[in-house]
Amino acid sequence: MKHLSAINPYFWKYRNRFFIGIIFVIGANYFAVLAPQITGYVVNQVQLHLPGAKPVASKPAHDWLVSGFIKWVDHSNVDFGTLIAICSVTILLLAIIRGVLMFFMRQTIIVMSRHIEFDQKNAIFQQYQKLDTNFYKTNSTGDLMNRMSEDVSRVRMYTGPAIMYLINLVALIGFSVVSMLRKDVALTIYVLAPLPILAFTIYLVNSIINKKSEKIQSLLSDLTSNSQESYSGIRVIKSFVQEKAMLGFFKANSEAYREQAVGLAKVEAIYFPSMALMIGLSTLFTICIGGIQALHDTSKLGLIVEFVIYINMLTFPVSAIGWTASMIQRAAASQKRINEFLHAKPSIENCSNPSGKPITGVIDFQNVSFTYPHTGIKAIQRLDLRIEKGEKILVLGRTGSGKSTIAQLLLRFYDPTIGRICIGGIDIKDIDTKILREQISYVQQDVFLFSDTVSNNIRFGLSETASQEKIEKAAQFSNVHNEILGFEKGYETMIGERGVTLSGGQKQRISIARALIKDPEIIVFDDCLSAVDAKTEYRILSNLYTYLKDKTAIIITHRIFSTFRFDKIIVLENGSIIEMGDHDQLMIKNGYYAELYRMQLTEQEKELEEGSAEI
Ligand code: ADP
Ligand code: MG
Repeated sequence: MKHLSAINPYFWKYRNRFFIGIIFVIGANYFAVLAPQITGYVVNQVQLHLPGAKPVASKPAHDWLVSGFIKWVDHSNVDFGTLIAICSVTILLLAIIRGVLMFFMRQTIIVMSRHIEFDQKNAIFQQYQKLDTNFYKTNSTGDLMNRMSEDVSRVRMYTGPAIMYLINLVALIGFSVVSMLRKDVALTIYVLAPLPILAFTIYLVNSIINKKSEKIQSLLSDLTSNSQESYSGIRVIKSFVQEKAMLGFFKANSEAYREQAVGLAKVEAIYFPSMALMIGLSTLFTICIGGIQALHDTSKLGLIVEFVIYINMLTFPVSAIGWTASMIQRAAASQKRINEFLHAKPSIENCSNPSGKPITGVIDFQNVSFTYPHTGIKAIQRLDLRIEKGEKILVLGRTGSGKSTIAQLLLRFYDPTIGRICIGGIDIKDIDTKILREQISYVQQDVFLFSDTVSNNIRFGLSETASQEKIEKAAQFSNVHNEILGFEKGYETMIGERGVTLSGGQKQRISIARALIKDPEIIVFDDCLSAVDAKTEYRILSNLYTYLKDKTAIIITHRIFSTFRFDKIIVLENGSIIEMGDHDQLMIKNGYYAELYRMQLTEQEKELEEGSAEI
């Protein structure tokens, strides 16, 4: 239960709505308990009109509203038929008032729970955005999604229906028990005696239900992750003709889920019969005990009817005890899971007093080592690298040599395990991450485009400052403008899941345009021309030469761009620099670079020749 205290600030936020809601619940129940009293009165009146009726021995104690009503009816001296009619209309009116109040009770409390649900989802989403890359590596997307949808819905069942039924239950039991006690203490005790047994039975059944539900929840999580993966990897599944195997996999998972769910249904099936039994017992006690009393005092007849109505009225709320208890327990378990993520501290956070100055100047990696958390892979080892302002550097190296890691460290997706990285003499840990990332454009190795229009993908995050002209200029620089114009709706063409499918090269170039439009101080291209042909690559590089004039650029690749003059070329191996210098120096060194250069030059020339032959 303590986990649910995280919700209290929301109740406080919507306190006015909540308070009014409680008043509506209390009001609705107050009017609910008036009707049986009038029914009891009518029965007594009927009984008085029967032949041989004895005068009423004792006046039952009514609620003051009902007493006033009865006094008024008695004094108005109407005939018997009119009296019955007046009472019937009054009962109907009470039901209407109750209905209206119940309508408003839902309007306030259930609507409040929807507001809380909305706020909670926003808070979780905001927290997800703050968490670092490492968090996303260690938690599955299915789990993240589940906590935001399934768990939040369960918490809503607590903030809405559960709270509403709980208040309803307390109010109804309160009002009806007071009414019953005022009329006949002994009969009340007999009638209510089975209810604690009912509550206890429901409690027992509930603990079993909760255990099973927890298990079902985790199985459901597995099932969601499992199917999510199948949808994302559908092409691989189809091309390897693994549909059947995947179905089998899914079936096995959902079979486990089914077994648990069926088990739960069986336990839940005990619920209602046991409740019906207890309510039946209460009714039986009322009729038997009340009946015996009525033999001596005929005014008890109305009382019996009244009590039977009370018991029926209590049926639903008492059954809701177990139901609400189980909802609250489930909500607590869900809130616990939500809290785990809400309280997760991002390992990359702004320092308490970050420098807000724009970043500029030398990029300096000082004795940087980095080990990936959880896997223990030493990706960077004792790296010293100085990049002057405005320099263009090329980072080469085999796959896994640590090239992308360097870029990620520079953007502070991770912090170095040892050493530090400074820009313009300031440790990047002391720079506001917002400014740092705004000033560095990072074109990632794995391109990601959103399901949105081409122009929105390019202007991503710059909706105000990026004019159509700027967007087109960026696309021209990355040599994708003409292809975009060739799409049916040009820059307004939808891409991604709901739109056109782009080639790998087109995606890469759109993501380059996205980086260029930011007009950053520093730009990092991480192997982002791997899917374009040599001719296009040549064009892009020529364009970039002008664009990058005053910018610092780090170009990571496994290809050599012979046409581009780099100020510095570094070759990485196992996270360390094994060669560093300009083109001429490295050619003289005759190492990895020279070998790669000779090998690729012949290939590139061949490709370019073939390309020009096509034109
Ligand atoms: P490159 O870009 O040169 O191909 P990376 O910088 O991506 O190399 O990777 C360097 C090493 O770190 C590799 O051994 C790789 O397996 C490992 N690595 C990369 N990313 C992660 C990660 N998120 N978690 C754990 N290990 C990683
Ligand atoms: Mg890489």
